[in-house]
Amino acid sequence: MMSKETFKALVLRQEDSKTSHAIENLTVDDLPEGDVLVAVDYSSLNYKDGMAIAGVGKIVREFPMVPGIDLSGTVLESLSPLYKRGDKVVLTGWSVGERYWGGYTQKASVKSEWLVPLPEGMDTKMTMMIGTAGFTAMLCVMTLEEAGITPDKGTVLVTGASGGVGSIAVAILGSLGYRVAALTAPGQENTHDYLRSLGATEFVGGPQWNELPRPLETQRWMGAIDTVGSKVLSRVLAEMDYLGCIANCGLAGGFDLTTTVMPFILRGVSLRGVDSVMCPIEKRKIAWKRLAKDLPAKALEAINSKAISLSDLPAAAADIVAGRVRGRLLVDLNK
Ligand code: NDP
Repeated sequence: MMSKETFKALVLRQEDSKTSHAIENLTVDDLPEGDVLVAVDYSSLNYKDGMAIAGVGKIVREFPMVPGIDLSGTVLESLSPLYKRGDKVVLTGWSVGERYWGGYTQKASVKSEWLVPLPEGMDTKMTMMIGTAGFTAMLCVMTLEEAGITPDKGTVLVTGASGGVGSIAVAILGSLGYRVAALTAPGQENTHDYLRSLGATEFVGGPQWNELPRPLETQRWMGAIDTVGSKVLSRVLAEMDYLGCIANCGLAGGFDLTTTVMPFILRGVSLRGVDSVMCPIEKRKIAWKRLAKDLPAKALEAINSKAISLSDLPAAAADIVAGRVRGRLLVDLNK
């Protein structure tokens, strides 16, 4: 994998605990070791990427770092029998963009076992319009299904509904025939038309979502996909129906959780965690196939209002951390 041809990447460096970012010209000799070289078509902006670029939290474990927790593209060279030149692939998680160089680069050197071949009917653009956020939304839906939460059982609440994970969760649930309630933060009522177009049928909000609930509140939700954590998750737990299930994947409102055992012991509620980063490869393949089938292309277009370039990333990162991004942002590496 030797070539002097240069390509562009966003590189994070750290000096005196301060993170800086710049678009740099690299050659493949600068890339870390991997058995597959990928020409990256697209990446996306996830909440974690925003934190990494903005230098918030401890997302990046090694410097210098090419951030970007996901990518899709075409195999250029492969030392692995699993892939050959020309194969289309998608990569999410496995700590790329955190511990290993990620997707904000025109070429990436990666491990073959991290890759998933594109499912039938999807191209590299669609897979990154979905990205880690959409993949995680699908894992959350599969988690509810595993708990027996079918559309006929009752309403599913999605928190952080206008964000990346939330928007795609609403769209998948809607297309599967679930009744979907969307929780949006105060001041986000302007997102209701957008969420209704994706499949939300009911909207929830109000000052009580910033306060701790009583141990048990009126039962409202058979299922819930929670991307917010903290007091929001406390209230969701207290409002769950008998034998309901919550799939929690996020902490947009905080990582704390105050609750009681009451929802568990009196209502048989289950709280299941969802992790996309270390998700086993077989489950990944199933989730990507499900996304090809259960996420309508029209919804995906509505969720991804625009594609941005490497140079747009710093401003977009500040926006997503401040909660100013609706839906998803696709990163076009050839823009
Ligand atoms: P986004 O920023 O796109 O969406 C987060 C949404 O949460 C916002 O749009 C907003 O929605 C809501 N929100 C933000 N801050 C608050 C707050 N203080 N209180 C209540 N609601 C708030 O992020 P993503 O959708 O990409 O990610 C969502 C969460 O899921 C993040 O915590 C992320 O780290 C996590 N995640 C976890 C993964 C895993 O593998 N476990 C994978 C991917 C993401 P609204 O305006 O509708 O209220």
